[in-house]
Amino acid sequence: MGQRSSTTFKVGRLTCHALEGGYQRLDGGAMFGVVPKVLWQRRIPPDERNRITLALRCLLVEHDDGLVLIDTGLGNKENEKFKDIYGVDNAGRGGRTRLEDALADLGHTPDDVKWVINTHLHFDHAGGNTYVDAAGRVGLSFPKARYVIQKGELDFARNTNERTAGSYLPHNFQIVPFHLIEGEKEILPGIRAIPTPGHVPFHQSILVESAGERVCFLADLVPTSSHLPLPWIMGYDVQPLVTLETRRQLYQRAEGEGWLLVFEHDATVISGRLGRDNNSFGLVQPNTVG
Ligand SMILES: [Zn+2]
Repeated sequence: MGQRSSTTFKVGRLTCHALEGGYQRLDGGAMFGVVPKVLWQRRIPPDERNRITLALRCLLVEHDDGLVLIDTGLGNKENEKFKDIYGVDNAGRGGRTRLEDALADLGHTPDDVKWVINTHLHFDHAGGNTYVDAAGRVGLSFPKARYVIQKGELDFARNTNERTAGSYLPHNFQIVPFHLIEGEKEILPGIRAIPTPGHVPFHQSILVESAGERVCFLADLVPTSSHLPLPWIMGYDVQPLVTLETRRQLYQRAEGEGWLLVFEHDATVISGRLGRDNNSFGLVQPNTVG
């Protein structure tokens, strides 16, 4: 695809970049939970294996303190069988991923990243925390960065059960020396972690604020713009009714303060604002992948 590797926009005085980390394909039914296929396939058509294409989009913020990266894509450590099942298409130059390519296209190396904030530790959000080299050694992808996660999420990832284990792959987090936070927290001036539970109990979304403007990286609270209607909740969510109430509260803030919303997994829509379509929520002012 001849698509550009990143899209730059301003939030007040801060420059942000939506970085395209490649694609994965997940089962459309699992992505839309109880929503009937006749409805969701109109918004995102499935392939012959009933999978829909999803982006692996990350957010880079040029902060006074240094580069801040929010989520790290899927990484380069998975085998061919895994990549076939999940339709992973994220290979970059030099054995790394398209996330590193997008950084390089902006003139940065992985060593330039000062902060990595994970929304949660599922493989398609934290898989790029670490990488494997040609000799098979796993190391930190961003060795000079301070990695940040909710304490509860690290505990949840380390203590899986039969339902949750498939999404938490230890090589994405076990060697990472995390800085742990608890609850809503301003990690850096203007960069705030907001607990948004439901997908997993300690999921967080990241709000970036500057000079009265706000952008929110929703992550799996609302993975694509098609998931904006309140009940369009993923089958993957471990607490779907909590997701519903989290959305209701967050939408109130987003609407009241005019937040720009960034979608991590939407293959075509990078960002937009919350709108209402009769009684349902939807997207207005979309910014699409060029
Ligand atoms: Zn997830």
